[in-house]
Amino acid sequence: MQLLDGKATAQEIREELRQAVEVRKKNGTKVPHLAAILVGNDGGSLTYVNAKVKACQQIGFESSLIRYDDISEEALLAKVHELNNDDKIDGFIVQLPLPSHIDELKITMAIDPLKDVDGFHPENLGKMVLNLPCFLPATPAGILELLKRNNIETSGKDCVVIGRSNIVGMPLSIMLARNSNPGNCTVTLAHSRTKDLKQKVANADIVIAAIGKPDFVTADMVKEGAVVIDVGTTRVDDASKKNGWALKGDVKFDEVAPKCSFITPVPGGVGPMTIASLMINTLRSMELRGI
Ligand code: NAP
Repeated sequence: MQLLDGKATAQEIREELRQAVEVRKKNGTKVPHLAAILVGNDGGSLTYVNAKVKACQQIGFESSLIRYDDISEEALLAKVHELNNDDKIDGFIVQLPLPSHIDELKITMAIDPLKDVDGFHPENLGKMVLNLPCFLPATPAGILELLKRNNIETSGKDCVVIGRSNIVGMPLSIMLARNSNPGNCTVTLAHSRTKDLKQKVANADIVIAAIGKPDFVTADMVKEGAVVIDVGTTRVDDASKKNGWALKGDVKFDEVAPKCSFITPVPGGVGPMTIASLMINTLRSMELRGI
């Protein structure tokens, strides 16, 4: 079994991006600027946003964190329009989830597709389906990059993606099925209504779990030699940790790992790759706009 070390791969990507920023600085061209909007005080969201800001600092990107304890939908839309028209900002994200009085789709649709570095806007998702240049959603793109940089063959493989969210499972299933590298998989997209899930997973060469249910994928479900990617990050109580909780994946790692050819840990697998993808998209936003 080989561990797919997302932390190390993400670090490699950050170093490449840092060098690209150095070149831009030497040439006197603009340094990428990522802005992040965070509404509310959810601990998990704050951790994710802070990690993104920290990544910007390490690479040499500029960053702005825009925080609101609360905000109306109208005022948030106005802020989105302001960032769309601000030439200093190359890309921005609105951290999800948003409070229930704000329509997430309305906010996502208001973001300029050329600054939509999360890749959630329907225009980017549509272009992704057609394999046209666009911003790819960060988590699926990070997973593909992890497979690519670890020379894991996907062409012709049977892949089961468990979970069909708009930000992970659904786009990932399409990206893996496209005629590209990585890609050319035969993909089954499973969800809560899928029948005979165990049987489907047991036949898969590549299993990707993105459901948010700790230890859901067990050893008896996984084929010998399978590649297993664990997207799940659920906070569970853990008295041994300073903050009282630990992140748990969807895969029962200790028993599944010995059967795998490759497996991602949680934490340190998909999470760091998601942030690396966001950084790649932010640099790309300048290229797409010819800056
Ligand atoms: P989500 O919106 O939470 O949806 C969960 C999906 O899992 C749904 O499609 C649901 O099916 C499916 N599901 C739930 N129970 C199931 C079961 N028993 N069998 C089969 N499918 C089942 O998904 P998400 O936002 O992608 O989040 C999933 C997990 O990934 C969470 O732990 C989240 O924290 C984590 N995540 C991690 C990263 C990262 O960077 N590491 C990024 C994003 C998300 P239905 O559609 O039928 O309800």
